[in-house]
Amino acid sequence: MDNAEFRVWAHRIADRMADYYENIEEYPVKSNVKPGEILSQLPASPPAESEDMTQIMRDFESIIMPGITHWQSPNFFAYFPANGSYPSLLAEMLTASLGTQCMVWETSPAAAELEEMMMNWLKTMTGLPSGWDGVIQDTASTSTLAAILCAREKTTGYAVNDDGISGTETFRVYCSTETHSSVEKAVKIAGIGRKNLVKIPTDAQYRMDAGKLRTAIANDIASGFKPVCVVATLGTTGCTAVDPLKEIAAVCAETGVWLHVDAAYAGTALLLPEYRWMTEGIEQADSFVFNPHKWMFTNFDCSAYFVKNKEALLRTFEILPEYLKTGNRGLVNDYRDWGIPLGRRFRALKLWFVIRSYGVNQLQEKIREHIRLARWIEQQVMAHPDFEIMAPVPLSLVCFRYNPAHITGTNALNSINEMLMTKLNATGKIFLTHTKLNGKYTLRVSVAGTLTEQRHVESAWELIVETAASCTVG
Ligand SMILES: *Cc1c(COP(=O)(O)O)cnc(C)c1O
Repeated sequence: MDNAEFRVWAHRIADRMADYYENIEEYPVKSNVKPGEILSQLPASPPAESEDMTQIMRDFESIIMPGITHWQSPNFFAYFPANGSYPSLLAEMLTASLGTQCMVWETSPAAAELEEMMMNWLKTMTGLPSGWDGVIQDTASTSTLAAILCAREKTTGYAVNDDGISGTETFRVYCSTETHSSVEKAVKIAGIGRKNLVKIPTDAQYRMDAGKLRTAIANDIASGFKPVCVVATLGTTGCTAVDPLKEIAAVCAETGVWLHVDAAYAGTALLLPEYRWMTEGIEQADSFVFNPHKWMFTNFDCSAYFVKNKEALLRTFEILPEYLKTGNRGLVNDYRDWGIPLGRRFRALKLWFVIRSYGVNQLQEKIREHIRLARWIEQQVMAHPDFEIMAPVPLSLVCFRYNPAHITGTNALNSINEMLMTKLNATGKIFLTHTKLNGKYTLRVSVAGTLTEQRHVESAWELIVETAASCTVG
């Protein structure tokens, strides 16, 4: 492909992208292809000769598109969103064009310095302590792994990095029973071991019980374990419970245990002053993560990781082979020392585009609107005799189930709700997912799509009521 042909296709694909967004509601939200259906349409071996772009795009339409689940659809209510936006997309086009590798300052000074400023902007926008430092990671899973590794190193005086795990000490990490699975993955990778992840019970609203955390840490210390890290969650994945940060921070302060705060989804709500209660006590935390790629209109991937003490982070990850030595050490941020990978994408550009194109006010308006729409659904659920709310709705996720008078018993209710979800998703009109709360099958409606409006949640609710009436047990 030469430059002239690239120019032609770049314009055509830009039109294709705009068409996609214009017609996005016409696609079935959840792809209903069968396992292997896409695979069987792909040639088993790569082409030896050059293929024409016309043919490649034709196959994109006929083979790939049917197997896509439309995350940007306004009728996507599953999981948490991975929302994006036009300004973010435009920045991604430029990022791909530049093709930079942002390992160190010298490999693209603008990328490093823009990243530094974007992290400062996010700090201001979310009200995080001004003395903290931030870095963009790929995902919250990586950020949490970084936190647990730093905690492990700080607790051992950076000995594990040098000597490996001695086996004379057993480390412990604490989280709640509702915590995201990325914490379990991180303790496995960090050499701490899944058995040493202590899951603290939650209260009736699915928030970590700080009193039980205090007892668990005290008992562990008495038994000779070494507490390393507590992970508190603002906005759990199941039902967006907000752990009591201030009380948890007090426990960590008493024992000197590292406190990591996972706000992957809910962190975006901190743009709203009325949500800052969630971070009361944050000054006592050591690290914090939230994903602009979930709810802040920034295309996947972009995870904002903040630390109180940059030195602990650098000491944990720093490496300095001869081929990476530059004359600027200490003057600039070499982000390869701020996390796990060496190679890094230029992710700050899309944040810059998003924040400038919307402006903080419009970002706040959109987030408030999502929360309002979720409250609207919550009200419909509460007003309907055959449905019930399963957890408080502090943010923009509604947990509910179908519970008509003629169906009784947990098992029957679980099956009917599973059936309801399967039927709803098969319509292609909406896509939602579930969780289990205290063993009860719970449907989740997560309202945070960039394009989601009142009319979408109204149709979704209508469809839910109508489909529920057609579900029968037996
Ligand atoms: C989504 C989520 C994660 C994982 O995020 P990734 O960026 O996909 O790794 C972690 N914690 C919570 C609370 C989440 O909601």
